[in-house]
Amino acid sequence: MEFPNTKALVLFSGGQDSTTCLAWALSRFASVETLGFDYGQRHAVELEARPQILSALRANFPAWGSRLGDDHVLSLDVLKQIGGTALTDDVAIAMSANGLPNTFVPGRNLLFLTVAAALGARRDAKHLVGGMCETDFSGYPDCRNDTLQSLQNVIRLGFADDYTIHTPLMWLDKAATWKLAEELGGKTLVDLIREDTVTCYRGDRESAHDWGYGCGECPACDLRAKGYARFVSAS
Ligand code: ZN
Repeated sequence: MEFPNTKALVLFSGGQDSTTCLAWALSRFASVETLGFDYGQRHAVELEARPQILSALRANFPAWGSRLGDDHVLSLDVLKQIGGTALTDDVAIAMSANGLPNTFVPGRNLLFLTVAAALGARRDAKHLVGGMCETDFSGYPDCRNDTLQSLQNVIRLGFADDYTIHTPLMWLDKAATWKLAEELGGKTLVDLIREDTVTCYRGDRESAHDWGYGCGECPACDLRAKGYARFVSAS
C-alpha cells in the first residue's frame, strides 16, 4: 500500500469524478473518510446518491469496505445565499460575460478544500483528495493545477501542518477517467459508476443511457457521454 497508517479525506459529491477519486484513495490509503457539501444545489440527487454509492462500494469491494470510515456532510449555505449561478439558482445554463459558464460557482473549490482541511484537522486526515481536473474542464479557474498547488501551500501555512492535496484526475480526460475506474475496480466499478453516480447539471435520474443517467444535453452529460463513447471504442 502506498500510504500505510495514513488517513485520507475525499471530497465526495456522488458524481463520476469523485467516486473514481474515492476508489483511487481506497486502493492507496489505510483508511478513508468522505465529505460532501450541501450548498443548496438546485438538484439534490447527487447528495442522495452518496449513501447508495458508499453501500455499493462496501458490498462489491470488501477490502475497500474495511478501509472506508465515516461519511460527513457539511452545510455551505453561503454559496446559495450568494447565488447567481446555474447550479444554485433557477436560471438556464449560459456563458457569462467573463467568458465562464454560469455553472461556475465562484470560490467553491477553494471553500471546499479549506473546510476539508479544517475537518481533516479534527479527524487526523491530512491527505485531501479531490476530483478537480484541468483537462476537458469548463474553464473553471479553481480546477487548475496551479490554483490547487498554491492552495496546498496556503493550507500548510494557515494550519501549520503538512497537508497534501491529491488530484488524481488533474491530467485525465473523461475517457481516461472511465479507464482509471476500470483499472481500479474492473467492470464492477465501471458498472457501479454508470448506475449509481449523478453528474447531470439538471439532476436527471430518469433518462437512462449506456453511460448512465442524465438529461443527455447539459455540458456535464455531454462530457460524460463523449468520454464513455471514447472509452468503449478504445477497449
Ligand atoms: Zn445533463
